[in-house]
Amino acid sequence: MNKFEYMERHGYEQLIYFHDKTTGLKGITCIHNTTLGPALGGTRLWDYTDEDEATKDVLRLARGMTYKNAAAGLNLGGGKTVLIGDATKVKSEAYFRALGRYVQSLNGRYITAEDVNTSTTDMEYVKMETDYVVGLKGRSGNPSPFTALGAFHGIRASLKYRFGDDDISKYTFAVQGCGQTGYYLINYLVEAKAKKIYFSEINKDHIARMQKEHPEVEFVDPEDIYSMEVDVFSPCALGAVLNSNTIPKLNAKIVAGTANNVLDEENVHGPMLKERGILYAPDFVINAGGVINVYHEMHTYNVDEVKWEISKIYDRLIKIFEIAKNEDVHTQAAAKVFARERMLTISMLRTNYIPR
Ligand code: NAD
Repeated sequence: MNKFEYMERHGYEQLIYFHDKTTGLKGITCIHNTTLGPALGGTRLWDYTDEDEATKDVLRLARGMTYKNAAAGLNLGGGKTVLIGDATKVKSEAYFRALGRYVQSLNGRYITAEDVNTSTTDMEYVKMETDYVVGLKGRSGNPSPFTALGAFHGIRASLKYRFGDDDISKYTFAVQGCGQTGYYLINYLVEAKAKKIYFSEINKDHIARMQKEHPEVEFVDPEDIYSMEVDVFSPCALGAVLNSNTIPKLNAKIVAGTANNVLDEENVHGPMLKERGILYAPDFVINAGGVINVYHEMHTYNVDEVKWEISKIYDRLIKIFEIAKNEDVHTQAAAKVFARERMLTISMLRTNYIPR
């Protein structure tokens, strides 16, 4: 790939390759945009087939973080780190301390956290070498209940916008996946007395946990979850689940869940949902509860304040749905307009010099 051409086209700021000779650590940090503040995004460890695959991934993920952080109302830019290696072989104290040193070398332009194949324990080692890491043990804690709480508010906003009433007890739900976030989301829906909840899952332990704790929540075969006659389909498992095969099967009027990158191809499947009259709550807006939670770790952490900030996902989604209607675009595109507008407005605010 022509990296400079790609960076210019999508407004990237910086792409940093690093290699540590002691531990063999090989990685790439990408800082997409720091208009709103330091770039925040986790560190993913993956056995990429080659450098090009890793580069494409870090570029894509960093840009996604810019939109997510901007739309979440955070004073953060977008960035990401990928490490190239086999997670079962490369991990050690020294490996993550070496990473911490590279993060520190960016002097606060980039803040890292855990992501796929890295854990809070690994981040404790990173912390030994840098001030710029969040999501640590004993601080903001597991992000999943907060992500689920955000999705719960997002579902309520979607119901309000689509049906004029956000009373959960009047509606039916099909939740795909009850791992970390799906589990908590179902708990919120049960607590709010949802009329009926179906769930699908492929992990036997997770199925058993749900059936034990909430026998009224009904298991359905993973293949059948798309076609359930419900008000809301809630993807909480994998990415790219909505594609040209699955969208025609949907009987729900709303898609709103915690999963990332739900649309296989945004510009194809966003419009396809719109055409079918299905309201799609953009993934990076509705699933921002976790990043909102971790952001507060950078300041004085107060769980009530975090929950209050997460509840704002409701109004944010309503605004995005309005943009989509007024501009006649699909909601994922409208969410990007919303995020870009915030970045533009804040950058324009700062054109005058104010001493602090
Ligand atoms: P998880 O791995 O804990 O849960 C996912 C669950 O989906 C698992 O139990 C898995 O068995 C199940 N699953 C996998 N394939 C399935 C299928 N075909 N049908 C039904 N179930 C299936 O992950 P999670 O942390 O709950 O994250 C879920 C999604 O939400 C991911 O896309 C993730 O990127 C996104 N997300 C999570 C967070 C967070 O705070 N954890 C934040 C933002 C976004």
